[in-house]
Amino acid sequence: MDLFEHEARDLFEKHGVPVPRGRVVAEPAEARAAAAAIGGSVVVKAQVKTGGRGKAGGVRVVHTADDAEQAADDILGMDIKGHTVHRVLVTEAGEIAEEYYVSFLLDRAGRTFLAMASVHGGMEIEEVAATDPAALRRVPVDPLTGVDAAEVTAGFPADVRAEVAGVVEKLWAVFVAEDCTLVEVNPLARTSAGIVALDGKITLDDNADFRRSDSFDDSADGDPLEREAHAKGLNYVKLDGDIGVIGNGAGLVMSTLDVVASAAAEAGARGPADFLDIGGGASAEVIVNGLTVILGDPQVRSVFVNVFGGITACDAVATGIVRSLEVLGSRATKPLVVRLDGNNVTEGRRILADAAHPLVTVVATMDDAAREAAKLAIAEV
Ligand code: ADP
Ligand code: MG
Repeated sequence: MDLFEHEARDLFEKHGVPVPRGRVVAEPAEARAAAAAIGGSVVVKAQVKTGGRGKAGGVRVVHTADDAEQAADDILGMDIKGHTVHRVLVTEAGEIAEEYYVSFLLDRAGRTFLAMASVHGGMEIEEVAATDPAALRRVPVDPLTGVDAAEVTAGFPADVRAEVAGVVEKLWAVFVAEDCTLVEVNPLARTSAGIVALDGKITLDDNADFRRSDSFDDSADGDPLEREAHAKGLNYVKLDGDIGVIGNGAGLVMSTLDVVASAAAEAGARGPADFLDIGGGASAEVIVNGLTVILGDPQVRSVFVNVFGGITACDAVATGIVRSLEVLGSRATKPLVVRLDGNNVTEGRRILADAAHPLVTVVATMDDAAREAAKLAIAEV
């Protein structure tokens, strides 16, 4: 689970990482009171579980309590990348001399924990990582011996290196003690008050939920489409391509992603837009819910429904597809490529042929169906 910035800030404070004073509020009037209590300049910050709030106008520096109230009024209710702002953090404004970047993460590909650090932190860190990878130092961390903070901070200015190293050690303590898979501070700022973590992102390892005593707010966790899908009980993961994928069984859906990615690369489409496993016994309702979520993704241009009938009979799936197109009516606007095979396939294909829905193309094999879906994804509409 991802935490809100204010929750990360509280965990930092608990482990001695320097953070600015702050209070999270839900009303502009409370923001005024918080600003007055802090005194001087404050920053009003949208609390949403996504990055790039600064660039989206969700972070405002103000100098009076009146302006803090106005900023909170402007930011509350704002939509940032599909996340509605319900609360703002009112926090002491730091006088920033330099912005650094420090993070710890679980590097699954490298099978290790990793510390990353850069003296070029702030809002352009993604660009730094892309254009000048050497400016982002990566140091593997052995969980048994802990972080070598001197190694992580080797590229930092000599006069702050020791202080930053101290903070790096505390951040590693947060990572371990709180069972995290990500702890990220950007910016870790050099201010007149020393080194301060001005923004924090933490992802908790859900496997450790059973030993957590603190409770966190999971109301707005993850991608909005994923939240909608999970609320409907669907096994859905959002990806960033243009071809919606639905299948039954995790293994089949995983191989469908591979086939779609390959067909998309050949055709010039972007690739799979999601993973959606409708599981066994897929009812019409599950298919309606699945298609509703997938068609709600503005990036989707075609949908590939790949079903191998085992326990689930193909005729039931075909009926589900026909019924869901009836239910969706004018909301079904994107072409569907359907591949059915296995249990009761003849009956299933007959049902789809009889319905003769203009958006549905039935294709016999998985490879051909993926190619057809990729072709439709790049077709002019
Ligand atoms: P995001 O990463 O979502 O854009 P940040 O919290 O990093 O949000 O804020 C964006 C920028 O705003 C920071 O890089 C920093 O320059 C500035 N900022 C954020 N918090 C403070 C603060 N407490 N004092 C001064 N400047 C801040
Ligand atoms: Mg930031």
